[in-house]
Amino acid sequence: MLKQLRSHVCGQWRAGTGAGQTLFNPATEEALATVSSAGIDVAAALDYARRRGGPALRAMTFAERGALLQAIAEAMQESRTELLELGMANGGNTRSDAKFDVDGAIGTLHAYAEVAAGLGARRMLVDGDGIQLGRSPRFHGQHVLVPRRGVAVHVNAFNFPAWNFAEKAAVALLAGMPVVSKPATSSAMLAHRVVELVVEQKLLPDGALSFLAGSPGEFLAQVGAQDVVAFTGSGETAARIRSLPNVVRHSVRVNVEADSLNAAVLGSDVQPVSGMFETFLRDVERDMTQKAGQKCTAIRRVLVPRSSMDEVKAALAELLAAVPVGDPALASTRMGPVATAAQRDEVRAGVGALLGEGAKVFEQPSLPAKGYFVGPTLIEARDGAGAVHEREVFGPVAVLIAYDEAPQEIVSRGNGGLVCSIYSDDLSFIEGVVADVAPHHGRIFLGHPKIELSPGPGTVLPQLVHGGPGRAGGGEELGGARGLTFYSQRVALEGSRPVIQKLLGGEG
Ligand code: NAP
Repeated sequence: MLKQLRSHVCGQWRAGTGAGQTLFNPATEEALATVSSAGIDVAAALDYARRRGGPALRAMTFAERGALLQAIAEAMQESRTELLELGMANGGNTRSDAKFDVDGAIGTLHAYAEVAAGLGARRMLVDGDGIQLGRSPRFHGQHVLVPRRGVAVHVNAFNFPAWNFAEKAAVALLAGMPVVSKPATSSAMLAHRVVELVVEQKLLPDGALSFLAGSPGEFLAQVGAQDVVAFTGSGETAARIRSLPNVVRHSVRVNVEADSLNAAVLGSDVQPVSGMFETFLRDVERDMTQKAGQKCTAIRRVLVPRSSMDEVKAALAELLAAVPVGDPALASTRMGPVATAAQRDEVRAGVGALLGEGAKVFEQPSLPAKGYFVGPTLIEARDGAGAVHEREVFGPVAVLIAYDEAPQEIVSRGNGGLVCSIYSDDLSFIEGVVADVAPHHGRIFLGHPKIELSPGPGTVLPQLVHGGPGRAGGGEELGGARGLTFYSQRVALEGSRPVIQKLLGGEG
């Protein structure tokens, strides 16, 4: 009998009706669980969250909400081994990939508990300095941020079931909004277990966290003016959500984290035998193989000075050939399968499209016969145009592009990205690239061999913003206390200074 995943709505676990969908182990193709959302009353779930969870969270101070996040982090830490095993089984993660997801989630919850401690006993955030509005100082203005009265609906992608859940929930709960979290169905077992821990241990007030498992149907047709939607996934689904009539009519706030053709740029000053060259190679190889390349922030386009291309090709091919691909349960394996059979087929089709405009430099020759495996694949583009700037191949695939000068012009053809990384010791080169690529990105990573234990460009840190313009979705998440603004209404208070200051407990 397969495990049946349930939704947690209206303060109770509820199973959907009908056959629903089956969840698999992508390394063995073994069926692990089923899930159905049929018959779940989403309107009632959202209403319950708004009526029960919202007031309970808003009655708490930031410090008190931070203590809730700390408790979730501790519960996840206590069950870490079990969570890692679920990531390995249902996500095809190696142990190291599963740690990246689960530890990333725990770290993000801790980071927001710290932000909360800094905000202390307040319930409302003062935004910037007070402003004298008239000739007399008595006429005064002050911006404040207050929690929205609706529900924060979170729609997550399949690749980071723990982190994606936690990075969104931490910020919304801290801001004082109840959360309804919808995991991607194919890898939902891990997020389901995290929510079970929260519910079993009664870590949150009633209604503060709901969980909608299974196919989404039209559940976002239920959101209204005080609600917000934070979505991670494909640009196509994002466009569908943004154009829902109720979303348009009620100006529902929607944050989108979508796909991205992240570029890594090697400077022409970097010699093939140098610490900077090694750092660059290590970051490209890590991004291609970690989580089988299924990271939204993974390097997809690798821009190399034409004169260094031969050395880069040879060195990367050697590194990739040394990556054991196979059963993620084995300690010797460094790269597992992609998440689903559909993903594997899409990656293969994407490689085919890229090869129409380039040549294969390396492809892992031997793969397990069973499971959704795709080997690391490195392609060299024939020129710097075409599909390489349009098609995100969501797997262990990267494209080398030779440049003669001004790589920033080629980078910007990606039409908006999450992160661009630069590897150079030449400050004027870095300055030129940063100035031109910055408007097209949410984050710029400056690789350097002296940064100890550098996580590379593919790791999203809670202290910095995550998101990017254009095809990356135009959204922004995290960034420490900055993340709270999405879940808050900014209000300008305008009136007598002493009255405003009294309202704000002496601030403003
Ligand atoms: P997807 O098909 O758009 O699915 C993403 C989520 O949306 C899933 O939870 C899915 O549920 C749900 N969904 C699908 N249709 C929906 C609808 N009509 N209404 C509401 N929700 C709906 O994306 P994917 O292909 O699984 O994800 C991979 C993409 O995500 C890649 O392009 C990757 O770059 C991007 N990504 C971006 C980030 C980032 O932070 N920028 C992070 C990770 C991934 P079901 O699973 O139940 O269908």
